[in-house]
Amino acid sequence: MSTFEREFCAKYPFTETARNYIASTGFSLEDLASGEFVEIVERAKARIREAIQRGEISTFLEGDLDVEILSYPVALVILGLLGEARLARRYAVAESKRVEELLLGEDDDVLVRVAEEAFSWRLVKERTRMGSKLIDFCMPVHQFIATAATFHDPHWKLVNKLVYDGQVHLRRTEVARLIAEEVKNRVLVRISELTSVGGEALKSLQPHLEELRREASGRMKYLELPEEGVTSEDAYPPCIRKLLEDLRAGKSLPHMGRFALTTFLINVGVDVDEVVALFSSAADFDESKTRYQVEHIAGLRGSKIRYLPPSCETLKSFGLCVEEAGCGNIKHPLIYYRRKLRKRRATSGGTEPSKEAV
Ligand code: SF4
Repeated sequence: MSTFEREFCAKYPFTETARNYIASTGFSLEDLASGEFVEIVERAKARIREAIQRGEISTFLEGDLDVEILSYPVALVILGLLGEARLARRYAVAESKRVEELLLGEDDDVLVRVAEEAFSWRLVKERTRMGSKLIDFCMPVHQFIATAATFHDPHWKLVNKLVYDGQVHLRRTEVARLIAEEVKNRVLVRISELTSVGGEALKSLQPHLEELRREASGRMKYLELPEEGVTSEDAYPPCIRKLLEDLRAGKSLPHMGRFALTTFLINVGVDVDEVVALFSSAADFDESKTRYQVEHIAGLRGSKIRYLPPSCETLKSFGLCVEEAGCGNIKHPLIYYRRKLRKRRATSGGTEPSKEAV
């Protein structure tokens, strides 16, 4: 296979070309026990670490491309064995961001190829203008809906799209976003299927699993969610609920209030579209400006760092703490949320409720 094609596989390791290439190398999970593939395991761990720490994953095309390609399935195996739903979700989101960024820099033909090879989507290039709208691609309505139905932003509703002859007409940025979302969904499914490997391979991976589990637990305590893709508003701390209530009532939030609310929602797993839609009730709502700011906070732009919400001390100093609600000795809104969920789980599971303040 040419270097160009191997680079394609490294960038899009979930495509048919990549799957065939991986099969042609003869690599199998049992090989992990041999120690010969330590570089692949280390690169797979680096992918996961980057997702944990920065919410993103880099693509390395300068080194050994086979290591880069094979590290993708090995990372999924490791995540499957770890069995941490929140970590799996964070990883899947990071892979989807990686893919979206790469696609935005590609020719249209590459988008068509990735969509076809990965999901059998019938994406067709258009490059035309419909009324005042520029159009780059069209795809069958049912394929669009299958992925776009998970977005909450009205932008993705079919009624807000150009549709005729069974086709949805889209900009390339929208197509890149759709492909990225589908990558996220497929990564999650794949991880959930990979829950066991042969005894020897498992033995050789065990130290790596322990290492990652330790590293993740420190960071993930701020990222814990009740269950995949679902957030529990009734477990939000009083300060965040108050900000939400004010926003929904059409009140204008101070800058720190907006920042605290956005960072909190992003960190508990509410997606960018949903956060943008929430702010649409504000009197001074400007969708593109809001989207830019939310994406920046989510680590999709600029510094690429996903911001954490301010501490309780900071929120108190800005007059945003709802003290009378009595949060005990909580120091951070995300810790309030995590404890509340843990307590609720313990109660619903019939075990002893936590002795923690919340
Ligand atoms: S103590 Fe912290 S979590 Fe509770 S309302 Fe105040 S700022 Fe929010």
